[in-house]
Amino acid sequence: MSDAHAQQTTEADRAIPGPLANHTTLRMGGPARRIVAASDADELVRAVQLAGEPVLILAGGSNVVIGDAGFPGTVVLVRSRGLRVVAEDAGSVTVRVEAGEPWDDLVAATVANGWAGLECLSGIPGSTGATPIQNVGAYGQEVAETITGVEVYDRVAGTRQAIPAVDCGFAYRGSIFKYQTRWVVLSVDFRLARSPLSGPVRYAELARALGVEVGDQVPLADARAAVLRLRAGKGMVLDATDPDARSVGSFFTNPVLDRATYELLRERATDLGEPPAWPGRDDTVKVSAAWLIDKAGFTKGHPGPGGAAISGKHTLALTNRSGTASTSDLLTLANTIRDTVHARFGVTLHPEPVLINCAL
Ligand SMILES: Cc1cc2nc3c(=O)[nH]c(=O)nc-3n(C[C@H](O)[C@H](O)[C@H](O)COP(=O)(O)OP(=O)(O)OC[C@H]3O[C@@H](n4cnc5c(N)ncnc54)[C@H](O)[C@@H]3O)c2cc1C
Repeated sequence: MSDAHAQQTTEADRAIPGPLANHTTLRMGGPARRIVAASDADELVRAVQLAGEPVLILAGGSNVVIGDAGFPGTVVLVRSRGLRVVAEDAGSVTVRVEAGEPWDDLVAATVANGWAGLECLSGIPGSTGATPIQNVGAYGQEVAETITGVEVYDRVAGTRQAIPAVDCGFAYRGSIFKYQTRWVVLSVDFRLARSPLSGPVRYAELARALGVEVGDQVPLADARAAVLRLRAGKGMVLDATDPDARSVGSFFTNPVLDRATYELLRERATDLGEPPAWPGRDDTVKVSAAWLIDKAGFTKGHPGPGGAAISGKHTLALTNRSGTASTSDLLTLANTIRDTVHARFGVTLHPEPVLINCAL
C-alpha cells in the first residue's frame, strides 16, 4: 500500500460523524461530506493536502454561521495544542502558540506568568489560530498589537511560510486571512511585555469597573477578572447553561462611515440624541452598531422566527435562544435588522462572522 493511500485510510477511519452544529457555538449548521480532526501542525497540513476541494478549516466554531445544508466538502478541525517561548529579553517574551490552543487558556497562562498584552482579551471563545483571522479585539486591545508573525501553510504554493505581522493586513475585525481559503494558520507568535501590570486601560467601561481612570494601569489579574465579569454580564463568555451565549458574539461590526454618511446619520437621529461615535483614520467615523439596532426598535430579547432571538443581555448578539433555531431563522432575523437600520439611518450593517454556504 502506498504511503498516500495508507494516510487516506487513516484519515477516513478517523472521520467524525454528525452535523456541523456539533462544532459551532451557535449550534447551527448541517452536515459535511467529511469531518476530520488534526492534532498537530503536521497533521493539519496533511489533512488539508488530502482534503480536496472544497475544504473548511474550523476550530472553536465561534465565528462562523454555517448554512442548514452544511458544507459540501471536507471540514478539518484544528486541534493542535501547546505554546513555547521562542525569544526573550529583560523586558519581553515571544511565545509561539499552536493554532488549536484554546485562546482563553493562553490568556490565563500569560496573566499567571506576568506577561502583559492579552489580558483585556480574556474570555473570548475559540482558538489562538483564529485570532489573527479577524484581528480579535475587545476592551481596547487587539491581537495586532502583540502578534509579531504567523506561520501558515500556503495551499496555493504548497509550502509552509512565516508571514510577519506587517504583511498580515491587520485592520478593524479583519486581515488578509479573513474570507479566504489560501492560508491555513499553523501557529502564531506574540511578543508580550514582562510586567505585573496591564497596559494603560483604554476602555471607559473597563476603567469604571476597575475603579480607575482611563490610562491607569492595574495588576494583570485584576484586568482579567474585571473583563471576565463584564463579559459574563453580557452573555459574552461561553456558558452551556446560558441560552444567550449560543451566539457568535457580536453579529454585526461597528460601521465605519465616511463623513457624509455620518452627517446623514446625525440628521436622521436628531430626535434620539448624539449617536455614540469614535473618530477614525482618513476622516472616517466608527459608530455603534448596538446603538443603531436598539434605536431602530430592536431591543434586548427581541424574538425572531423559529426561536432565534436577540440576546437578552446584548443587542449586538443574535442567538439560537431556543436551541432549535435554524441558520435560515437566524439570517431572517439578521436581514430584518439590517434592512430596518438601513431604512431608518442610511447605514449598512455588515456581519462580523464568516458565513459559510449561506448569505445575508
Ligand atoms: C460569546 C462570544 C463572544 C465573542 N467575543 C468576541 C470579542 O470580544 N472579540 C472578537 O474579536 N471576537 C469575539 N467573538 C468571536 C470569536 O470568538 C473569535 O472571532 C474567535 O477568534 C474565533 O475563533 P474560532 O477558533 O472559534 O474560529 P472559527 O469560528 O472556528 O473560525 C472562524 C474563521 O476563521 C477560520 N479559521 C479558524 N482557524 C483557522 C486556522 N487555523 N487557519 C485558517 N483559518 C482558520 C475559519 O475557516 C473561519 O473562516 C466572540 C464569540 C462568541 C461566541
